[in-house]
Amino acid sequence: FTLPIPKNEPVLSYAPGTPERAALKEALRSLKSQELDIPMIIGGQEVRTGQVVRIAPPHELSHTLGYFHKGGKEEVEQAIRAALNAKEAWENMAWEQRLSIFLKAAELIAGPYRAKLNAATMLGQSKNVFQAEIDSACEMVDFLRFNAKFAEQIYREQPESAAGMWNRMEHRPLEGFIFALTPFNFTSIAGNLPTAPAMMGNVVVWKPAETQIYSAHVLMEIFRKAGLPDGVINLIFVDGPVAGEVIFSHPEFAGLHFTGSTATFQHLWRTIGNNIDRYKYYPRIVGETGGKDFVVAHASADAKALAVALVRGAFEYQGQKCSAASRAYIPANLWEEVKQYMLEDLASMKMGSPEDFTNFINAVIDEKAFNKITAYIDAAKRAPHVELVAGGNYDKSKGYFIEPTILRTDDPMYTTMCEEIFGPVLTVYVYQPENYEDTLSLVNQTSPYGLTGALFAQDRYAIELGTKKLRHAAGNFYINDKPTGAVVGQQPFGGGRASGTNDKAGSILNLLRWVSPRAIKETF
Ligand code: GLU
Repeated sequence: FTLPIPKNEPVLSYAPGTPERAALKEALRSLKSQELDIPMIIGGQEVRTGQVVRIAPPHELSHTLGYFHKGGKEEVEQAIRAALNAKEAWENMAWEQRLSIFLKAAELIAGPYRAKLNAATMLGQSKNVFQAEIDSACEMVDFLRFNAKFAEQIYREQPESAAGMWNRMEHRPLEGFIFALTPFNFTSIAGNLPTAPAMMGNVVVWKPAETQIYSAHVLMEIFRKAGLPDGVINLIFVDGPVAGEVIFSHPEFAGLHFTGSTATFQHLWRTIGNNIDRYKYYPRIVGETGGKDFVVAHASADAKALAVALVRGAFEYQGQKCSAASRAYIPANLWEEVKQYMLEDLASMKMGSPEDFTNFINAVIDEKAFNKITAYIDAAKRAPHVELVAGGNYDKSKGYFIEPTILRTDDPMYTTMCEEIFGPVLTVYVYQPENYEDTLSLVNQTSPYGLTGALFAQDRYAIELGTKKLRHAAGNFYINDKPTGAVVGQQPFGGGRASGTNDKAGSILNLLRWVSPRAIKETF
């Protein structure tokens, strides 16, 4: 192998006086002083339909960041044609040349574009500086560098040959195009879903969530600047059902790379199934969907570490992570202490615009999310057997602000213990310490999901028991740490059950889904 094993991109501090802070402040100022006119990018062309939609920061609704041009059926068809036109040249390009484009993009993000991409993520998706840095800078760079390394591994590994023959494995891209349908909550996931298949020689139609278009547009600018040929990735802004109708009925549809809700993923899977006889190829379906991620503590757990993990795990990025801690099982001997630590930690957290770097909590993404989350909070306030431990207030007069909210319930099957809320709401169930094993069964059975989870204990037997009993409850399982913040190359991310196909983002497993190997045997 010739590429070095990548190191994770270091997380910068943005402390006062640092150059990265000055660059980021300048990028924020510059983006805020303009109204961007954001076109779709199809076959390398900027496509403007004139049907524009306004973009505002979720934390400052009165400000206009810009407008994006919305497309329809015609633009989806155009994007598929552009992708298919680019296919032959792209898949015939030597893989070293292809990977170099993405390695160049990583360098651009780590260096000259870091401030702009972080600023776009902070403004467009309401992320604080640290959450933006670990996402749109570090994780995006890591995805590109580690995937390039894994791709090299795939291309170089070859089968054995007996005497008189030469066996080869050709890692062909899939026949047709890939559809990347990407979420708002991580700029890096939005960037990874189209680039991972593209690295393996595939062509892509990319439809980001409307609420992430502002930073998606910057990503696309970077990919093009890095030398991505026209048509390899086509960025479209179209309503889901319109895009779906064209894409899933197309004979050349070859794969879906998805992160989003469980309901949408299941709907898409059914649609693909219903259309199966139209396709030339059995489409690859790769998806990461919802979660109802747990934190379970044993009586021997460290109360302080547990409290810190709960607050960070539940409220970073306003709980809008598939991995967010949203249900906790705490033994009665620890509860009062854990509660005190959590309340102290919360008291030090300010809520407001991410442009003020001291605000830890920012706004939730949009009005739909705001209404959904606050409906859960209102119902909990009225419910018997539910105590409001912290937060519970909200206000959308200037932006979609919701206080970090902690609920405690006596009913382990209460709605907020079972359903994904995707917001800053943590529900705690306090159990009697002697019921540890039964509680583990409860954790395992309460939710249909299997994404992330954390176990807190000092007692080794408790750790061993929990690890075994929760084997299928989480694809990312943390012992004495919060269930969020997986790092590419260290904890490959994804889960099973209703949480997705578990083709670990940023791993060789994921890249292998985007190739269709041909085994060649030549005899002499
Ligand atoms: N990879 C992220 C984490 O470990 C979560 C990704 C998601 O929300 O989809 O926190």
